[in-house]
Amino acid sequence: MKATLKIDTVLNRFAEAVGPSLPIAIEGNRTRWGLNGLLKPGTSVISAPSGLVEYKPEEMIVTVRAGTTVQELDTCLADHRQRTSLPDRGGTVGGAIAVGHNDLHKLGKGSVRDAVLQLRYVSAEGKVITCGGPVVKNVTGFNLHKLMVGSFGTLGFIAEVTLRTNPTPLRQLWIQTSMDPKIIFDTLQRPSAILWDGTTTWVHLEGHPPDVDAQYALLTKSGKVYESETGPSLPAHRWSIPPVDIFSLEKTLMGRFVASIGVGTVWAEQPQEERKLDRATLTITERMKKQFDPTSRLNPGRNLGNWS
Ligand SMILES: Cc1cc2nc3c(=O)[nH]c(=O)nc-3n(C[C@H](O)[C@H](O)[C@H](O)COP(=O)(O)OP(=O)(O)OC[C@H]3O[C@@H](n4cnc5c(N)ncnc54)[C@H](O)[C@@H]3O)c2cc1C
Repeated sequence: MKATLKIDTVLNRFAEAVGPSLPIAIEGNRTRWGLNGLLKPGTSVISAPSGLVEYKPEEMIVTVRAGTTVQELDTCLADHRQRTSLPDRGGTVGGAIAVGHNDLHKLGKGSVRDAVLQLRYVSAEGKVITCGGPVVKNVTGFNLHKLMVGSFGTLGFIAEVTLRTNPTPLRQLWIQTSMDPKIIFDTLQRPSAILWDGTTTWVHLEGHPPDVDAQYALLTKSGKVYESETGPSLPAHRWSIPPVDIFSLEKTLMGRFVASIGVGTVWAEQPQEERKLDRATLTITERMKKQFDPTSRLNPGRNLGNWS
């Protein structure tokens, strides 16, 4: 992927395509196209520009256009043994942020929301808006760029993002055990994932080899563990629940499930029932949508809000 500096021309052209009126939708690679409400039929669909804008490995930040695939981004970062917390499931950077689902390895990689340092989006008025700042130490102003994470393209169309990068761990290891996942969660210092299907627990360790070995040794003191080639296969539906509820869930509603301990994500055979927002959240959500998109022209039919 080649770096290109003609940011404004490209972004202005994208803003012109969005325009200030008429219903319009945005697509990435359509890997999560059906989520959060169906688009109104007849809506014209555009996509975000793609390409690397700037990569500063020594500062651990990268700026890309939103239409870039996560795979392309990962390939570019791999040259410097770096990565972001965005999951690569065939989608685009903009799509991953708009959907806001965290990676399986959230405990180790961090959340999608935390990775976004600066974001440029095109508003319902067809203007390019910049929020956040392209630096890791960024604590001033409103967290508007974080609001875009999980907003499903209903508040603005993401054009370009600056993301925090992290070193890719030198060693990665999957472990399988029948030990209680709560004990594992309390024992380990920083696992990148603890997955549990009600019987078996899978732990993903990553980091410098001596640290991974030390964590592994710690686990063997508490019970029997086995190295595993991979983690479990994940059922199709994604549930989002408070992390503490994982052990009290009615498992019969889910079918086969794999829960991410300490995160609150569960992959299950059965879909999660639609969650009703409480009155206060609903009011804030409606007000926000009115403020950002008074005529509901952006992604009409999609719901705002899945802040999992
Ligand atoms: C089988 C499978 C498993 C997956 N599992 C996981 C998982 O475990 N963890 C995880 O984190 N993710 C997972 N994903 C989701 C993955 O991260 C998606 O690929 C990504 O989130 C969506 O990218 P996309 O480009 O395909 O977006 P699309 O499907 O094209 O769009 C999704 C939504 O984002 C909006 N959108 C797209 N681009 C923009 C933009 N530039 N600005 C504003 N809104 C935009 C669209 O309008 C739409 O509402 C999974 C996907 C698949 C197919």
